Amino acid sequence: MKIAPPSVWRIKDSLYNLIAAKCEDCGNITFPYQQICSKCGSTNVKSIKLSGEGTLIDYTVSYQAREGFEKVLPMYVGIIRLDEGFTIVAPLTDVNESNIKEGIRVKATLRKLRSDSSNGLIVYGVKFRPAEGQ
Ligand SMILES: [Zn+2]
Repeated sequence: MKIAPPSVWRIKDSLYNLIAAKCEDCGNITFPYQQICSKCGSTNVKSIKLSGEGTLIDYTVSYQAREGFEKVLPMYVGIIRLDEGFTIVAPLTDVNESNIKEGIRVKATLRKLRSDSSNGLIVYGVKFRPAEGQ
């Protein structure tokens, strides 16, 4: 899959700074930020900055990668319950078989996700690593 630069550019602030949309009508949080609540359709949303901290609920390890991701194998992907009370799926970094387990605290960090050889685009994004003291 190719990631088009304009689509990354449009949501860069939300992705890099962990900005989500909180619905003022139903309380739902949508990440990345969008102007319409994904639950009730309200446009009465405000932007909130997420703490980037949460708990690892579960994870999986992939030894196969999509084109452009070969250098990051094995790839750990986690289901993370953020402290704001909702769950996201995100790549993990700085983990291996000895330090990863369900229930550990994790923290967001900005890392290079991939370099797309076809257009030279380097895509940065948020990965989660074990919090200090884990
Ligand atoms: Zn809503």
